[in-house]
Amino acid sequence: MSATAQQMILTPGETAGFSKLTTNKQLVDFLKQCDLQSDQMSVKYYPLAEDRLFPVVTFHGNNSLAGKPTVMLLAQQHGNEPSGMEGLLLLIRDLANGLHKDIVADLNLIILPQCNPYGNDFNQRRTAKSIDMNRDHLLMRAEETTIIQQIFDNYRPQFTVDFHEYYPFGNGWKEFGYRRNFDIQLGGLTNPNTDHAMRNIFKAEILPWVEAGLVNKGYSFFEYTLGDFSSGERLRHSTTDVNDGRQSFGIAGTLSLIVEGMNGLDSTERLERRSQSQYETALLLLKYAAANAVLIQQMSSKARERLNNPEGMVSIRQDHFKGDVVLDYPLLSLKTMKDTVFKVEVYHPVVKSLLGVYPPKGYLIPAADTLLMFWLKRSGFVHSKVIPEGVAFIAYRMGVINSSLLEGIEGSDPEVFKETVNGIQPGSYFYVPVTGIYSHKIIIALEPQSMYGIASFPEFDYLLRQEKFPVLRVE
Ligand SMILES: [Zn+2]
Repeated sequence: MSATAQQMILTPGETAGFSKLTTNKQLVDFLKQCDLQSDQMSVKYYPLAEDRLFPVVTFHGNNSLAGKPTVMLLAQQHGNEPSGMEGLLLLIRDLANGLHKDIVADLNLIILPQCNPYGNDFNQRRTAKSIDMNRDHLLMRAEETTIIQQIFDNYRPQFTVDFHEYYPFGNGWKEFGYRRNFDIQLGGLTNPNTDHAMRNIFKAEILPWVEAGLVNKGYSFFEYTLGDFSSGERLRHSTTDVNDGRQSFGIAGTLSLIVEGMNGLDSTERLERRSQSQYETALLLLKYAAANAVLIQQMSSKARERLNNPEGMVSIRQDHFKGDVVLDYPLLSLKTMKDTVFKVEVYHPVVKSLLGVYPPKGYLIPAADTLLMFWLKRSGFVHSKVIPEGVAFIAYRMGVINSSLLEGIEGSDPEVFKETVNGIQPGSYFYVPVTGIYSHKIIIALEPQSMYGIASFPEFDYLLRQEKFPVLRVE
């Protein structure tokens, strides 16, 4: 046994032979051991309710060195998807032991191995307050999502990877007689406002790189697809929703990916293989980032320059459409337990914008609306009481509100009419300028017709049910 192997700390999963789930407390104890082992690692713990801790691990991240891209890996926003966390613990242990020196030397690394400690400890998808964190990156209702937002804002990573698991064992698939059987699915950006170069490089370079690496290690792989086509649903590359972590980082000029490992029949079934497949995926993506450090930084800084001074339409409603391709889609036959390739006609890989708006200079938020102000403070968006001069204030007069079904989520699609407002009372509004890396996200959040805007959430739909939309455009 080599010296390194003798000193190797075991992860809690390894210690239990991957037969039990790792508690938040076990995870914290493990990180403390790793921290002692490594002078390049540091850990910060954000306290949560019920004595749980949200750990933030950095390798060099505290004094990020210019010229290196900052990469953020996060796992377990969904508490009942443990393998991403277990995989990142294997990675942290390696890095703390001085393995993969090139990665630590070439990247500033931030790892959030467990974003939903309460969900983890109760093996449930949602947080203690029953919030789905991966549908909370714009509304920020969960304390845990707000912590992710703060970390993203502090470090402004250029590359992010969000680790999840999918569950292919549902009844619909059982009746159909086939199921998905990919150890790992990898998804890129789909929101049409995100950077073209990033979307292209994902398809052209990152997908084939990870596929080759995983297949070489004996894992099956496919691009992330969603939609139960056996019951007529459209098969698509997931959502375009900026409330999901991947799109919310992506809309801020980040090369942002999602990993979907295959969950077990229950949370511990095949947990070792699942954790290993997530670990290998993380390692492949970090090697890609280290080898393409300059390119990633250039892409992100160009995207963020454009966001700083947005031009052209910003899409606020979009949907998925068929392309020219019939997809060859491998599924496991539950009868023969062999792969069968399906020709999927309902493959909808193309995202098209249905409605866009031109960026305003900014928005005015009524200071007296305590719900909106509470949200604005958590949003991470810059705001102040100083309202610019020499500008026009535009209100949306509200017409008929239609319900529409996009992304399978019922949303409102109101008719609006623009009109000029005179006589803004000083001090009665907060100004949110449409600039900086969140400029697109601000527009998506605050336009009344936006399918992912705050007004599309039940707690804010009062904004639509007034004569005039209370948030004003500054033009
Ligand atoms: Zn998930």
